[in-house]
Amino acid sequence: MASARILLVEDDPAIARSIIYTLERDGLSVTHSLLLRDARAQITRQPPDAVILDVGLPDGSGLDLCRELRAAGSLPVLMLSAQGEEIDRVLGLELGADDYVSKPFSPRELLARVRSLLRRASMPAPAASSIGKSPFEIDVAGQRVTLHGQPLNLTRREFGLLAELLRHRERIRSRDELLSAVWGTDSDSTDRTVDTHIKTLRAKLQEAAPEHDYIVTHRGMGYSLDIRRAKGN
Ligand code: CA
Repeated sequence: MASARILLVEDDPAIARSIIYTLERDGLSVTHSLLLRDARAQITRQPPDAVILDVGLPDGSGLDLCRELRAAGSLPVLMLSAQGEEIDRVLGLELGADDYVSKPFSPRELLARVRSLLRRASMPAPAASSIGKSPFEIDVAGQRVTLHGQPLNLTRREFGLLAELLRHRERIRSRDELLSAVWGTDSDSTDRTVDTHIKTLRAKLQEAAPEHDYIVTHRGMGYSLDIRRAKGN
C-alpha cells in the first residue's frame, strides 16, 4: 500500500522541519505549505489523506481552512496552535477538526496523533441513524453548554472534557488523549486529574438528567460519550 500523504500547513520553519523529519522517518509522505493559499491549491490538485494545520498563518487563520474542509467533506484535520489559544482549541473542534495539539508538543506525540487519525479515517463511519439528535448544545464563544435545554454550570476543564468527548462521540478517548487535548501536552497533570474531572462532570450531567449516564468508562482504556445511554446500561 502506498504511504499515507500528509499536508502540513505551518509557517514556522523549525517546527515544520521537525514535523517533516519525524513523519517521513515513520514512512509518511509529507507536502509542506507555508500559506493557506498554497494549501488550498495543493488540496485541489491532489487531496492528501490528512491535514496538519497551524492556526496562525501569514495569510489568515487555519480555522477558516478547517471550516472549509469540513463543509467540503471528511478530510481528517489535526489543528496545531500556540499556547494560550484555548478558545481556538474548542473552536477548532467545534469547526470540525478531528484532533488538536497545543505547542509546544513532542514530534513523537504528534506522530501518534496522526497515526490514530489515519486509523480512524480508514474505519467505516457509524450510520447516521445510530447517532441521533444530541441532547447537548454547545455555545463555543460563550463556553456554555446546555443539556436538554438546561444550562450546565461547568468549570473550564469540565467544559473542555465534554467538548472533546462530544466531538469524538461514540469513540473511546484515552486519558492521555483527553489530558493533552484539555490540559496541553506540557501540563504536570496526570491520569488521576482526568478521572477527578470526569467524576465531577458526570455528577453535574446526572444532576441535570438523572435518568441518563452519558459518560461511559472503558476500564483500562478511557472514556466515551453515549448520548442515548440510560442509567444502569
Ligand atoms: Ca504560525
